[in-house]
Amino acid sequence: MQIESGTDSGQPRVAAVIAAGGTGTRIGSQLPKQFIQIGGKPILVRTVESVLSVESVFEVVIALPAEHIAQAETLLAQWELRAPVVCVAGGTTRQESVWRGVQRASTSADLIMVHDAVRPFCDRDTLRRVLETSWRTGAAIPGLPATETIQRVSRRGLVLKTPPREELYAIQTPQCFHSSILRTALERASREGFEGTDESSVVRWAGHPVAVVRGSPENIKITRPLDLEIAERLLEQLGGEDTRARQATGDKTMLRIGHGIDYHRLAEGRKLILGGMQIPHDKGLEGHSDADALTHAVCDALLGAAALGDIGRHFPDSDPAHRNRPSLEFLGEVKDKVAAAGWKVENVDATLLAQRPKLAPYFEGMRCNIARTLGLEVNAVSIKATTTEEMNAEGRGEGISAQAVVLLSSTSGNRGQTQCR
Ligand code: MG
Repeated sequence: MQIESGTDSGQPRVAAVIAAGGTGTRIGSQLPKQFIQIGGKPILVRTVESVLSVESVFEVVIALPAEHIAQAETLLAQWELRAPVVCVAGGTTRQESVWRGVQRASTSADLIMVHDAVRPFCDRDTLRRVLETSWRTGAAIPGLPATETIQRVSRRGLVLKTPPREELYAIQTPQCFHSSILRTALERASREGFEGTDESSVVRWAGHPVAVVRGSPENIKITRPLDLEIAERLLEQLGGEDTRARQATGDKTMLRIGHGIDYHRLAEGRKLILGGMQIPHDKGLEGHSDADALTHAVCDALLGAAALGDIGRHFPDSDPAHRNRPSLEFLGEVKDKVAAAGWKVENVDATLLAQRPKLAPYFEGMRCNIARTLGLEVNAVSIKATTTEEMNAEGRGEGISAQAVVLLSSTSGNRGQTQCR
């Protein structure tokens, strides 16, 4: 087949579509798995970087659940990526998500490469094999010959058939296609209601042969908790470019300190909640949420250390969804945002300013609540209190305030925004 070259250099122009539909349920994390960090960098960022290691890739479209778009955009903005990366809302199935991503890709793309968000270790040789073969043949996917015997098994758990092993391959991504072939196949599948197990099965269903090239054993798909451990080991073995870059620049662990402060008025008819503990008192703190001033101060310190704004920006009190919400939930979300930006919490030290009631009996519970929410050991969380000797608003019993400092660390080389815009 004679194919026109996409560029003057004879290289096809490649758009990458990344399917990031995962919810993280299988991996047992609240964070969708593509946002989990390995070696201090989110999996999704690693995957995008590996795809962009191929020069002919000129754009990346990520299809993911609408509710994760803002988080993904915030996260991606913190890394220097050499080509535009856009996020689109996915559909209810992987195929529908990929189809939406493909529709968003530039029509000037000669090839479309579809890749799993949770395969961050695809090496350049595999990428090159898939691209070259698909450019020549129209459709190519990477696969590894099956190493174990694979049986067809009945629903009752009995072996039905032993397919010849030499015909069995475990198929990976990226899967790459001439953009017209993939668009036509997905459009027709969408119209006729065909659901394939991957893009190549849709393309084959639409009548186009699909070539299999050699995949790579390192190109694992991170879906189970064990895969995360394997990924960390792999990263060490591969001596990721971060490690090399860090060594080259002599860059070590980065530390950031953050400070937070919060005031709430005491009022009758409200519960007094501090550090997630309900404390018996004749008054409680007024506010839109549960008005837990201590937890708010810790949230602000964390956001401040990561230069991510303040609690009011992330959880505006104009949003009725936050009414009476336990502030520990805010803290859990703040921790995820800070983690997504490449930071690990080292410790928290906070002081409450209150004339009454006596708070010391509740310190242990507050420390446990905050430590548990932040994934820290209790000895990394300190809570103390002082009266103001009856001076100030706190001293007169008009309200309670809290101050917190936190320390964050990062070994990922994540610098966030480094230049003034
Ligand atoms: Mg507050």
